[in-house]
Amino acid sequence: MCAADYIAEVLNQAQRQDPDQPEFQQAVTEVLETLEPVVAQQPEYRKAKILERLVEPERQLIFRVPWQDDRGAAHVNRGYRVQFNSALGPYKGGLRCHPSVNLSIIKFFGFEQIFKNALTGLPLGGAKGGSDFDPKRKSESEVMRFCQSFVTELQRHIGPDTDVPAGDMGVGAREIGYLFGQYKRIRNASEGVFTGKGINWGGSHVRAEATGYGLVYFVEHLLKDAGKTLGGLRGIISGSGNVAIYAAQKAQELGATVIAMSDSNGYIHTPEGVNLETIKRLKEIERKPIKKYINQHPEATYHENCAGIWTLAADLALPCATQNELDEGSAEALIKNGVTAVAEGANMPTTLPAVKMLLQAGVRFGPGKAANAGGVGTSGLEMSQNSTRLRWSFAEVDSRLKAIMQNIYESATQAAEEYGSPGNLVAGANIAGFVKVADAMLDQGLV
Ligand code: NDP
Repeated sequence: MCAADYIAEVLNQAQRQDPDQPEFQQAVTEVLETLEPVVAQQPEYRKAKILERLVEPERQLIFRVPWQDDRGAAHVNRGYRVQFNSALGPYKGGLRCHPSVNLSIIKFFGFEQIFKNALTGLPLGGAKGGSDFDPKRKSESEVMRFCQSFVTELQRHIGPDTDVPAGDMGVGAREIGYLFGQYKRIRNASEGVFTGKGINWGGSHVRAEATGYGLVYFVEHLLKDAGKTLGGLRGIISGSGNVAIYAAQKAQELGATVIAMSDSNGYIHTPEGVNLETIKRLKEIERKPIKKYINQHPEATYHENCAGIWTLAADLALPCATQNELDEGSAEALIKNGVTAVAEGANMPTTLPAVKMLLQAGVRFGPGKAANAGGVGTSGLEMSQNSTRLRWSFAEVDSRLKAIMQNIYESATQAAEEYGSPGNLVAGANIAGFVKVADAMLDQGLV
């Protein structure tokens, strides 16, 4: 059987086993379809059933999370942790709290995480977890009670050498604090079991900024290869959460003008450039919708429908909100408006057909697996600091983050060239990550 038929068979099998997991199937298809040249060249991967083992998580945990609201009413949510692959090191990946969370979404993130973590060059396995709990419109004490209940079950499955969760959508510094506090209380162990911790209790400098900063460091390399720099470019950034805010901050610092940002309701457009202090106050402190921005900045306009942001003319587009937010129609509008580069701060924000359109149109495209790996890279640096009980300075962590992003860019570029798709970083990132994991799995035998 040729490599393409073999991959199609693995995809069919995955589809037959979990037909009700569209996001997971999308992630598996996106990765496996790019691996054909590697599988063709390395028959031992097929012999050892590396692909079949990769698409099957090592462990999937689903558990009940009961909690009480401030009025004394009982609630039950569902908790997840999918420990996907530990060939390179302890499982590592974020926790997402959002009503849309289900097993398909967690498996899709966990699968992606394997390759992303491999690309960082650090010894990290891949995992993801979370809950369908919605932290919005909950009081502080409700969020705390939920987190404590969640970790009361999760704690028996994680540990600094086993599985080290972090935040993701809906799980920020506040939630990590509650999770860590309860873990420490139950286990009587102050250890580096979560990343994204507060700076005074085991956290790392730059962790909060890392995904956004790393994304922009990656974009600098993308642009350099197109003979450009960030200076003077107009950028649009979707979302106004952790990734979007720090991507905007670094992009502005390096001379770009961020003309639009969004949230789940709509987007603001301001050709002079967004005022990030206002965005930070609204979203990080007051937790209010982005439309309130125009109250303070009447020069800006607000538009309902967040996807409309992609119709604005810009040189750079950074989807930093959520999965599948940039579809074919959006890609068409970006191409028509002459976009130079698109790089994914969010996980899989661009649909597969939209990615293909952008690549075909010659747009420089940075896939999330590579472009947003700065967050997990810096989490890896937080784990190193926890192990040695040291804390590095902001400048030191930032310079290591830059080196990680450069290394990711170079290995993805090199793999793309070596396997016959020069300039295609989607293929390059998948292949570079896959080879590291596959080789480790071969070394470790049939486990
Ligand atoms: P946050 O929860 O901090 O922010 C998410 C933002 O996206 C919010 O502004 C939210 O709006 C907005 N949003 C949600 N859905 C949509 C939509 N359909 N259109 C436009 N905006 C929307 O999450 P993060 O910034 O941490 O994460 C964002 C993405 O980046 C996720 O895909 C995550 O998996 C990925 N990622 C995050 C990393 C990290 O270190 N944080 C690391 C790597 C990837 P609202 O305020 O209305 O809810």
